Amino acid sequence: MASGTLDIDLDAITANWRSLDAMTPAQVQTAVMVKADGYGLGAAPVARTLMAAGARRFFVALTEEGVSLRLALGPEAEINILSGHMEGDAPRIRAFNLIPMLNSRAQIERHFASLPGHPFGIQLETGMNRLGIDRADWQMMAPSVLAHAPRLLMSHMACADEPGHELNDLQLASFRAMTDGTGIARSFSATGGILLGRQYDFDLTRPGIGLYGGAPFHAARPVARLSLPVVQVRTLQPGDTVGYNATWKATAPARIATLAAGYADGLFRALSNRAALYHGATPCPLVGRVSMDLVTVDVSGIDGTPETLDLLCPAQGIDALAAAAETIGYEILTALGLRYARRYVSRSSGVLAA
Ligand SMILES: *Cc1c(COP(=O)(O)O)cnc(C)c1O
Repeated sequence: MASGTLDIDLDAITANWRSLDAMTPAQVQTAVMVKADGYGLGAAPVARTLMAAGARRFFVALTEEGVSLRLALGPEAEINILSGHMEGDAPRIRAFNLIPMLNSRAQIERHFASLPGHPFGIQLETGMNRLGIDRADWQMMAPSVLAHAPRLLMSHMACADEPGHELNDLQLASFRAMTDGTGIARSFSATGGILLGRQYDFDLTRPGIGLYGGAPFHAARPVARLSLPVVQVRTLQPGDTVGYNATWKATAPARIATLAAGYADGLFRALSNRAALYHGATPCPLVGRVSMDLVTVDVSGIDGTPETLDLLCPAQGIDALAAAAETIGYEILTALGLRYARRYVSRSSGVLAA
């Protein structure tokens, strides 16, 4: 095995979706966020698995992602596009029966002109200032847009992972003011909002990171395990240095393993001299600079020569690794490279695919 192995636990993803679904009342639907290829873990296998578990509504960022997802899921799933209706996308939106979440007056006009009668949703701006129609515009447009019966009115929270942040309730008040009394289905919460409280539920939640085992859903089951193969091991003497720019120097005899993954595979260079790889529960420090295809690890603390060491495992989840790189679990997952052998694991069917 020349590349690393990324094991993706589909049972854990199902358990996480069910846990998040169980936090809200039964009438609140729980959708599935699979943008960016399911946070780097594979949109098609994740979505198929959750469809089998009962999920029916899926969100992606781009029309192209919606097309792939339609081919993976068949005609039954409802596939929503967060970037809305972009110029030139009408033929694919129609052919693959995608539902754009329209973000602006221009998108609404484009959609009504090119695909009259085709289902759509509306994204409303309530404080994040990223996507959506702002309040003043909505006041003017709401009557005519609502007459076309949008499937969904949605907005997105900027600070849902900070329970005390004042923007949470300011956004909620704004969303209510823009949507109360419309009689249209509404969606406000992603993972963070589900954990914050029931006042954010509305009709549909849209969790992403919680499904994949990341904060702020600290009770999530871990989903990803990443094992990297050892290419060679050498013994260094005091004074010997490791890697580009000689940033690590042995102060005692040391055994250094070279592993086959680097920054081209999502091991951020910021992890240089900061992270650990694990042999079971034993941490082995990453020493020297991360290079493009390789990392070097001090394995002096373990007996013998391991065949692999783990970067993601029970001892070190995505959030712990993210902390070492001063980033977030989302970025760890979406950066996982394409060179790993992805293995989908589930109790019912064992290892599904490489
Ligand atoms: C990414 C995203 C989500 C999912 O957020 P998580 O924090 O991963 O649960 C939901 N809604 C929108 C609009 C998003 O962009």
